[in-house]
Amino acid sequence: MTRRISIFGATGSIGRSTIDLIERDPDAFEVVALTGGHNVARLAEQARALRAEIAVTAHEENLDELRARLAGSGIEAAAGAAAIAEAARRPADWVMSAIVGAAGLPPGLAALETGATLALANKESLVTAGPLVLETARRHGARLLPVDSEHSAVFQGLVGEDIAAVERIIITASGGAFRDWPLDKLAEATLEQASAHPNWDMGQRITIDSASMFNKALELIETKEFFGVAPEMIEVLVHPQSLVHALVGFNDGALMAHVGPADMRHAIGYALNWPERRALPVDRLDLARIGALEFRAPDDRRWPALRLAREVMAEGGLSGAVFNAAKEAALDAFIAGQIGFLRMSEVVEEVLTRLSGDSGLIHAEITLDNVRAADDMARKTARSIIETGA
Ligand code: NDP
Ligand code: MG
Repeated sequence: MTRRISIFGATGSIGRSTIDLIERDPDAFEVVALTGGHNVARLAEQARALRAEIAVTAHEENLDELRARLAGSGIEAAAGAAAIAEAARRPADWVMSAIVGAAGLPPGLAALETGATLALANKESLVTAGPLVLETARRHGARLLPVDSEHSAVFQGLVGEDIAAVERIIITASGGAFRDWPLDKLAEATLEQASAHPNWDMGQRITIDSASMFNKALELIETKEFFGVAPEMIEVLVHPQSLVHALVGFNDGALMAHVGPADMRHAIGYALNWPERRALPVDRLDLARIGALEFRAPDDRRWPALRLAREVMAEGGLSGAVFNAAKEAALDAFIAGQIGFLRMSEVVEEVLTRLSGDSGLIHAEITLDNVRAADDMARKTARSIIETGA
């Protein structure tokens, strides 16, 4: 039986790894929609190779080029955020949500409304609107599967277990590019240095977020939302080798660790094959050769993002949407060379401080419109802090 699948963010790192897996078993899948952003050449090439029904670019100005590249193929072309959400309404069995940033939320919700199984790489969906995402899945009988490696690891650790017997969840962090840098050098870290991850090959934004720990900060919130556990039960452990992805601690003292290579095709493949396990083309670990695994506690002075995430979890409501949008605006400014590396967390903290008093904004009902309003306000506030330097 062939399965109908769509990939949102097909041209990115997760999107390409997903395609790598489905191309190995072409008769098993029928591709409905593929979406991308600026990389129109790659999107058109993917759509032709997989004989997709429709290819959508996020940017209207790319539509003519996309049409030209798809000419004669019979594949539909479309552009813009609304067209992406529209493509998510096309019936599919399995949908990969791998757009980067808050832009991933609307198509994810639209796919859940069709009852499709949603493989969620886009952690921002749960950070900005966790309760809305879960409620939408519940209401439409749609299944949500984690793709973030730590969350896939926890999910696998919980198979056959009772969540009530879980005492703690430990997600690991490599520590990113600056794990071992002297603290007083961090302020001078360049874009190029922040864009080099020691273990994982990922998109540029998540790679920089790994160096700042904003990625792990988002993942703390993602863990709380996905598994419905109290924030105090979730721990972050620095593990430089990135081979143990997460550990689930039970009330009898047992820790179930998920160990595997740093290759996202494992977590993607697990979600693709769920509830079965099937062979995947990832390296098998030789633990005798690896010899030792290291763990250490994260340093709050090096990574203030983790403390900010704890404040956001305590505040609840739409503070996750504010946090994520402020982080995205600060990251844009760092990539554009407007602010230094350490300034990112200062900007995010300042936005949280300024907007936390606005309970009409933070504690409004979690709807897509209110998430957008909180996101807009946080980006504007962040930009004004960046521009005025105060
Ligand atoms: P990439 O930057 O490699 O890819 C992002 C994808 O989203 C691309 O297809 C890009 O298009 C598209 N895109 C960018 N902006 C928009 C927009 N505004 N609207 C619609 N589409 C857009 O990111 P990753 O693959 O690394 O990450 C994707 C998601 O998965 C993120 O949420 C990330 O946190 C999460 N994730 C990633 C992991 C990884 O190993 N990479 C691990 C765990 C989670 P184009 O490139 O054509 O412009
Ligand atoms: Mg992760």
